[in-house]
Amino acid sequence: MTSPVAGARDHTRIEPRDDLRDLAGYHSPQLDVAVRLNTNESPFPPPVGFVEEWLAALAELTFNRYPDRASRELRTALGARLRQPVDRLFCANGSNEVLQTLLLTYGGHGRRALVFEPTYALHSHIARISGTDVVEAERLAGFHVDPDRAAALVHELAPSVVFVCSPNNPTGTVEARDTLEAIAGAAASSGTLVIVDEAYGEFSHWSALDLVEEACPLVVVRTYSKVWSMAALRLGFCVGPSWVVAELEKVVLPYSLAAPTQLAGVLALRHGDEMTERVELLVEERERISTALAQHDDLTVYASGANFVLVRVDGDGHALWEALLSRGVLVRDFSRWPRLENCLRITVGSPDENDALLGALADALLEVGA
Ligand code: PMP
Repeated sequence: MTSPVAGARDHTRIEPRDDLRDLAGYHSPQLDVAVRLNTNESPFPPPVGFVEEWLAALAELTFNRYPDRASRELRTALGARLRQPVDRLFCANGSNEVLQTLLLTYGGHGRRALVFEPTYALHSHIARISGTDVVEAERLAGFHVDPDRAAALVHELAPSVVFVCSPNNPTGTVEARDTLEAIAGAAASSGTLVIVDEAYGEFSHWSALDLVEEACPLVVVRTYSKVWSMAALRLGFCVGPSWVVAELEKVVLPYSLAAPTQLAGVLALRHGDEMTERVELLVEERERISTALAQHDDLTVYASGANFVLVRVDGDGHALWEALLSRGVLVRDFSRWPRLENCLRITVGSPDENDALLGALADALLEVGA
C-alpha cells in the first residue's frame, strides 16, 4: 500500500526494535502422526486421581478474584517436597517464562549471556529478545562442558549469566558436580549468575538443587511439563537464593500465574509416588532403546540422562528422519544444525511407542542405506 501523503514515510508497518529485525522465531514443527517422539513430553496423561481432584477444586474457585500473586500455597508445597524454604522458590508459566524473567532481571543491554553450544535454543533466543549479548562457547567432542575452560571463560568475560543445561537438550549430557562447582566458583568472583536448566533433572542421577544456597549465585530451573505430565498447563519454577527470587518477583507481571495452574501444581505433588514410578519406567525404556539403537553400526548413540536420546547417523540424517516419518514415527530433526550434523533426537515414549520406533528404524535404515 502506498502512503496516503506523497513523500511521507509509510507508517502502516511499524518496525520492531533494530536488534529484533533479523531474529527468527522459535519453531518446533508438529505433525499429526501416530507416534510423536519429537518434543520430550511425557507419553502418559497425568494420573486420573489428579485430574479428578483438580476439576473438583476448579469448581470451588473464586473466579472473580485475582489469584494469589505470590503463589504461596504452591511454593510452600514445592518447598516441602524439595526441602527448600519458600522464599527460595519462584513459579511462572512454564520454565521458559522463568528463564525469560531471569533474563529480564539479570540480562539486558550491555550485558552478556554465556551458553555452551549445542544446547537448548531458547537460552540464546530469550537472551537476545531481552537485549542481552550472547557468547557461544564450544563443548568437548562428547558434548560435555570442559570445567576448566568454562571457569576461565566466566573469569575472562564476566557474563551476567551463564547457562548450564544438565541434562542438556538436545544431547542428553549430564554435567558432573565438579563442573557445576567450578563454574559456580568462577561465577561468585565474576558477578555472574549461574542458571542450571534442569528441565529433565528428574531423569538424571544427580541434581544441582543441593548447590543452592544464599551465598552462591546459582539457580536451578525446573518444569512440570515433563515428569508431571503437565506440558499443556504451563508451569515451571526455579530454586535459588532468596535475594534472586526477590528480584524476580519485582520483574514478573503481577498475577501472571493463573489460579487453575497454581492449583494443579499443588495437587500434582500429591501424586509424587506415581510420578516417580513413571520416571523409573522412562529411565528403563531410555536404557532399552539406547542399547537397541547402539546395535546399528550406522548410529552413534550419546549417553543420556534425560527422557530422550540423541543419535548421529553415519549417512544422511535428514533422509532417515523422512523415512521414519513415512512410517508414522516423528522424531526431532537436528541434522542441519551446526555441531549436530546428521543428528536426530528421539523422545522416550511408552513401551509400545518405543517398540514402534525400533521397528520403523530398522526398516528405515535399510531404505536409506545408512
Ligand atoms: N528447558 C529445556 C532444556 C527444555 O527442553 C524445555 C522444553 N523443551 C524448557 C526449558 C521449557 O519447558 P517449559 O516451558 O514447558 O517448562
